[in-house]
Order: sequence, then C-alpha cells, then structure tokens
Amino acid sequence: MDKKSLVIVGGVAGGASAAARARRLSEEADIIIFERGPHVSFANCGLPYYIGGEIARKSDLLLQNPQSLKARFNLDVRVNAEVVSIDRTRKCVTARELNSGQEYEQGYDDLILSTGAAPLKPPIPGIERPGHFTVRNIPDVEQIMAWLKDAAGQRAVIVGGGYIGLEMAEQLRRKGLSVALVEALPQVMAPLDPEMAAWLHAELRSNGIDVHLNSPVTAFEQPVAGESARASMVVLKDGKRLPADVVVLGLGVRPETGLAKASGLEIGSLGGIRVNDHMQTSDPCIWAVGDAIEVRDPITGTWSIIPLAGPANRQGRIAADNIFGKRSRYKGTWGTSILRLFNVTAGCIGANEKSLQRAGIKYQVVHLHPWSHALYYPGATNIAMKIIFDPETGKLLGAQVVGQEGVDKRIDVLATALQAGLTVYDIAELELAYSPPYGSAKDSANMAGMAAENVLNGYVQLVQWFEVEHLNPKTQVILDVRNLEEYEAGSIPGALNIPLGQLRKRLAELPKDREIIVHCQTGQRSYFAARILAQEGFTVRNLTGSYRTWENAKR
Ligand code: FAD
Repeated sequence: MDKKSLVIVGGVAGGASAAARARRLSEEADIIIFERGPHVSFANCGLPYYIGGEIARKSDLLLQNPQSLKARFNLDVRVNAEVVSIDRTRKCVTARELNSGQEYEQGYDDLILSTGAAPLKPPIPGIERPGHFTVRNIPDVEQIMAWLKDAAGQRAVIVGGGYIGLEMAEQLRRKGLSVALVEALPQVMAPLDPEMAAWLHAELRSNGIDVHLNSPVTAFEQPVAGESARASMVVLKDGKRLPADVVVLGLGVRPETGLAKASGLEIGSLGGIRVNDHMQTSDPCIWAVGDAIEVRDPITGTWSIIPLAGPANRQGRIAADNIFGKRSRYKGTWGTSILRLFNVTAGCIGANEKSLQRAGIKYQVVHLHPWSHALYYPGATNIAMKIIFDPETGKLLGAQVVGQEGVDKRIDVLATALQAGLTVYDIAELELAYSPPYGSAKDSANMAGMAAENVLNGYVQLVQWFEVEHLNPKTQVILDVRNLEEYEAGSIPGALNIPLGQLRKRLAELPKDREIIVHCQTGQRSYFAARILAQEGFTVRNLTGSYRTWENAKR
C-alpha cells in the first residue's frame, strides 16, 4: 500500500481509536493527531468519579500520553495544538500552537475529524458568573476542584438531569456537599420513559438531593441582602432562588462542527456532520466520527445525535478501516447506555415510547419486576424492566431496566438481542447463564420475552399505568389480587380486593357486564388471575407492571 499521510483532529475517544487502528493496518503511514487540549486519550467518562474521589489519582484518567503513543503506535501526537482551518483544495490543515500562537500548515491524504461536542451554555442571564462550570475535560475538573477546596458544607446546584448532571450530583453528594438538581423537563434522563425515570427521582430524593423538575432556570443572580452564595442564586421559573456555592451545567452538548462548516462539508438538520456508513463526509478524503456527527437511528430510520463513547470508538476504527482499504460499515447507533446513581443502575437501549410516537411507529409495551437473582438466595432485589416491541412481528424495539443488581447483564443481553434483530419469542428462548447468586433458571430477560409473548399470543391484554386514571367505573372494575395486608398498605383508589388464592371461590362477586382491570404488586399474580377470569368468560385486562409501576409513576 502507498505511504499515506493521515491527519486526525481530536485525540480522545474517536480520534485515538482511529489512530491506533490505522497504525495496525499500516506500519508505513504518517499518522498525526492534533489535540487542542493538554491531554490525549484521557478517560472523559471517568471525570465525575475523579471529582468525587472514587478515582483517586488524576494519573488514572490519563490512559496514554504523546510519548507512550509514539512508543507503542509510532503516532505523532501534538497536544495544545488546535486545527483552525481546512483547505480542501490543497488538502492541508492550518494548526495553531496554543502556547506560542504560531501557525503552520500540515498536508494530508486523508483527514479524520473527531472534534467531539461542546457543553451547551444557553444565553441565560448570569451563566458566565464565576463558580459556574461545565465538565468536558481534565482542566474543567481541576477548576471545579480548585474552586471547591474544602467541599464540606458547600451547596451545589446541578442544572440539567442528563447522565453527566446525575453523575455529578452523586459525586458531589459523596464529597459532602448539599446538592440541588434542577431540570427543565418533567423527568431526568431523557432516553428513559417517565415511569422509568421516576425510579431515579426516588433514588435522588432518598439520597438527600433536592430535586426540582419542570423547573427551567431563568437567571443566575448575585445574592442580595440576606442571601449568601459563593457562585450564584439560581432563579427558577416559579421564582424559587437556590443558593449555589458551585453551579455545574449539564445541559447537553452540541457537535463541534466549526471546522467542517467553514470548509463547506455537509451538515445535517440536527447540526452534526453528515457521513455515510463508511464514516466518509461529503468530501471523500475527509472522514468524521464521534460526537460531532449525526447517526442513523436503526429503529426509527431518522437522523439523530447520540454522544456516547462506544459508538465513537467503533466509528474511529471503521474510518481507519476504510482509509486503509477495508470497506467496513457502520450499522447505526442503538443508544445502549447505563448509569449508576447511588444504589440503583439504569440502562436503556433502542427506541423509547416518545421516539416511536414521533416516528409514527406502532409498538406494544410490557412492564415487569422480576428478581435480580433466585429469590431463595439471599439479597435478591426487584428489577424494573420495560420492553417495547412490534405488535405484529414481536421484534424488539427498545428496553429500559432500572434496579439495584443485575441491570448491566440484562440491558446488555437485550442490547445484543436488539442489534441481532431478535423477537420477544427469541428472547424468551435465550439460554442464559444461571446460578442462584446471579439469576434464575428463567432469567429476567427470558421473563420479559415470555411476558411479551403472552400478549402477542392473545393470552392476556394489557392496560398501561397512565390509562388507570381514565378508567370508567360504570364500565370497568379495578380488581386487586394482592393479599389484604398489601392492599391495606396502599391501593389504587376504588380497587376491589380479592386475593388470588380466593379468586376461584369468589368469582360471583365480579360483574360479567363490566371489564375487569386486574392488578397485583408486579403483574405476575394478576396475570394468573387474568387467565382464570378470561377462561371463566370475563372480559379482563392486566395492568402491566401493576401496582409497583403505577405507584412509582404517580410519585
Ligand atoms: P471527544 O472524546 O470529546 O474528543 C474530542 C477532542 O477533540 C477534544 O479533546 C477536543 O479538545 C478536540 N478538538 C476539538 N476541536 C479541535 C480542533 N479544532 N483542533 C484540535 N483538537 C480539537 N459516554 C459513554 O458512553 N459512557 C459514559 O459513561 C460517558 N461518560 C461521560 C462523562 C463525561 C463527563 C463526559 C464529558 C462524556 C462522557 N461520555 C460517556 C461521552 C463520551 O466521552 C463521548 O461520547 C466520547 O468521548 C466522544 O468521542 P469524540 O472523539 O467524538 O470526542
């Protein structure tokens, strides 16, 4: 192969992955990485944990440095060096040494843009006040730590309930700060549907986080007489004023496309660089990867921006493959993600109800709350699972899982199933590893497939949690088949209680001219009840996820 000159802009997730793959494919190529910041290939996903002290040393975040990349991969890494323009006709970039201000040109045969995404800073009055920070790189984190010095007793306001905001809330709390979290939307973690995000709201509150939902910030103000705050008084739409000694802005990110735009590359409607499935931009010699690009959502077929490390790494590898003659293709971004928040973990994959509704795609949902491992082995906890699937074919469209244990396993099983195009019938049949400390002979993932299969096979029809408040007592009866103690501890208003064990003997108490909406605690006993009732000639539907989903969503 001819000796190529490959220039990469951005030396972290996508850029470093592309460079390493490129070297493995060509010993000959000149591979030059320009990185604006002082560090290359650092662990940006670890930044919140360094602030909280779970990652003790900064050096643990620095996976490589220019010297180690030279020694191992023979890469020419130039840090503190910003690429300021691209001349596509002459095939060269202009780089600026940030320490000296000196500029020079560097030619390329192929150019990869892995410029990432910048934290959003909307024009809210006072947003630039001292003590306000975003979290993107090591210098950001060092500034936060220097500002906080002695953390105990200080008050943090986190603006934005995405994963960076949530991780920062957890870590600052762990550091001993009082923490308020402010979110403009009615829920945190937008990829989750609201009833699943509600588990995170509960976890935040039970760990002492002061949560403000539906609360856009209107201003960051100087404290007035009687107020004290080192950073700002954070003013919410309803007029509340939250004192903040530090403000962390986690308001999302915007693709860094300045270079691409200025050089006339095609930009998509969402503001990311448009690439084909070989990661090639509208200029065949320029490739783009990572947070800066738009990707196809394989479920809805729409363009989307999904800033995650796994996709950026895969895309970097694919760009390098294609540059060095291997025609590998990117199949899309499914949005597989996971978050730890204090004692719970939340994972999601694929489409949620909101995105399917926007795309006009028909779907069916089941909720369930299986045990994380065999109930007879100590320590099992309930996992909240939501499976979204095609009502005709049973093909999996998305899944959301929240719980204390075993969430990572289930979301990754479902992620693999989704990407393989499996149906809920296939998921019910998957042979998964089992031993009592880890799972059950019918794993939770299998149970999810079976619950969905029961719907598709017509064994049960479902009511969703949000439909409960619209039920009509004249034509419908809510039947709670839990034990009396469970019923008395809290129930859906108007529900009739007949424990499952008594149901067969008490059928005469139920009207045949009204629809029975049956529920229990998690949906399993009520499924058994629904089967009894259906076979006895009643019209019946099961409240999927039952009392646990309904109650949590109403909180
Ligand atoms: P980046 O890794 O951001 O790298 C882009 C680099 O390009 C930057 O260092 C920038 O300085 C440089 N650059 C930009 N313009 C120029 C220029 N003109 N010249 C020279 N250099 C330039 N994802 C997950 O999947 N899981 C997680 O748990 C997770 N946690 C995260 C936590 C935090 C705090 C952050 C900030 C991100 C997290 N992410 C996580 C997202 C993940 O880090 C990104 O999706 C991934 O790093 C994107 O890779 P990238 O190469 O596109 O951009």
